[in-house]
Amino acid sequence: MLRDFGTVEPGSLSGPYDLCVAGTGPAGMTVALKVAAAGGRVLLLEGGGLGPTPESRAVYEGRNVGTVPYGHIETCRLRQFGGTSGHWAGRCAIFDRVDFEQRDIFDLPGWPISYDETYRHLDEAKSILDIPDAELTLEPATPWAEGPFRIGAYAMSPPTRFGVKYKAELEASGNIDCLYNANVTDLRLDENGERISAVVITGYDGREEIVEAAEFVIAFGAMENARFLLNANTQRTEGLGNQNDMVGRTFMEHFNVDFGKVLTTDERFWSEFVEEDGRTPPLMPTVAKMQDADIGNGIITMISAAQQRYYGRLAPYREARRAIICGVKPLRARVQENDSSLTCKDEYFIGTLTEQVPNRESRILVDPDDRDQFGKPKLLLQYEVTDQDWKTIESHAFELGKLLAGKDIARLRVREGLLDRTIGVGAHCHHMGTTRMSDDAKDGVVDKDCRVHGIPNLYMAGASVFPTGGGVNPTLTLVSLAVRLGEHLNAKAGRL
Ligand SMILES: Cc1cc2nc3c(=O)[nH]c(=O)nc-3n(C[C@H](O)[C@H](O)[C@H](O)COP(=O)(O)OP(=O)(O)OC[C@H]3O[C@@H](n4cnc5c(N)ncnc54)[C@H](O)[C@@H]3O)c2cc1C
Repeated sequence: MLRDFGTVEPGSLSGPYDLCVAGTGPAGMTVALKVAAAGGRVLLLEGGGLGPTPESRAVYEGRNVGTVPYGHIETCRLRQFGGTSGHWAGRCAIFDRVDFEQRDIFDLPGWPISYDETYRHLDEAKSILDIPDAELTLEPATPWAEGPFRIGAYAMSPPTRFGVKYKAELEASGNIDCLYNANVTDLRLDENGERISAVVITGYDGREEIVEAAEFVIAFGAMENARFLLNANTQRTEGLGNQNDMVGRTFMEHFNVDFGKVLTTDERFWSEFVEEDGRTPPLMPTVAKMQDADIGNGIITMISAAQQRYYGRLAPYREARRAIICGVKPLRARVQENDSSLTCKDEYFIGTLTEQVPNRESRILVDPDDRDQFGKPKLLLQYEVTDQDWKTIESHAFELGKLLAGKDIARLRVREGLLDRTIGVGAHCHHMGTTRMSDDAKDGVVDKDCRVHGIPNLYMAGASVFPTGGGVNPTLTLVSLAVRLGEHLNAKAGRL
């Protein structure tokens, strides 16, 4: 059943449910459907409406107090039914085996589970994301891209919008009670203070319901998962799962650094290597390169500016400006000297996605000076980047420049600010790491099963559990882990 919490008769939610899942994005929806399919009775709670609403969006407000700018706290997240899948781009890939190894570049332990274990449910995750036949194995290097690079593999989901794909199934479901406009504002521990006994749901009119369940999964995305646990401090003053001060730490993104422009010297490179969409296949550093140079993973794509489209009200003006300036050689040279964002259609620019290492100082906190409409401190981000991160960024740029020049294909005109590290690191809206998975509770928040250390029936779902962020988009991996979590909960309750 799918209902607006505002229309639910007070006191009519009859717990205890087998499972309460909070959040209807890819992570939460996947766990809920997996448990319901095995016969479990699920309460699925969504704080937003079926579409965007101003009152829900306001709950996601926050500010960054870190030394590195981050302008995407609100724009990277959708607080509504189906979560951020409402505007994700659908690019899917899997981590490298090396991403699961303990590497010297990390100050903290890496993944406590293996690549094979993480992707045990890959086929199911691919079906959920509507890419059942996608071939995601890395390809060997080609004559155009070899040496320190190999070719990455990815697939494009349609992209799957979870709120659209599963709405009818939830409406018809006898096992899932899904409520929207149902904000999860707290969890209650039982009288011994050991297990979670109930969830506190608050409506936009301030009405509260407390509902019991046997197991609880929080799936709000990596920023909000941490804010929620830190604010759930009515019975444990430090927040839930935060006995080692790890909740919110190691917030990771994927950097999106614009290295500069590619000036072509051999046109065959573009005609033979560039694909129909005007992009080169994704270049990734080889494992040997990463290990030898002590750098992280990532993707570099060279994109034909002919494919670049302008959007918005000013698009026709910007198109016309580009056509005029690019058509007059001396004018073009003069303008481009001062404005590196102007690309002419015969040029190529560079898109990157670069691994950020887990760093305790890059973290989610809560704002002592500002509260949301439910009285909870708002999100405070402290975004930080390390020397190790810059080393990875610089190495990727340097190796690309060497590859292009060495083959006499092109030259890389490096953007100002890259070498003195004053350039912005950009973002991909890939929030990860704030409730990281670890064997030892001192190094993380959840164990191998995504269960919060020290609380036997509280689980976290989503990329917040990633101990490291790898060098590819995260959603396929987090959906694989969500299927695995659903299976774990079914086995625990004897539902298999
Ligand atoms: C523009 C954009 C493009 C992207 N492109 C890609 C891509 O190409 N490939 C890729 O892999 N990833 C991409 N991503 C990232 C992808 O969207 C996320 O990885 C994914 O949505 C995370 O899923 P989730 O379920 O963990 O969190 P979300 O999708 O954010 O879902 C969280 C849910 O929790 C709900 N919620 C929050 N707080 C509460 C509360 N207190 N009570 C109840 N409910 C609550 C929210 O409303 C939401 O429904 C992109 C993101 C953006 C913004």
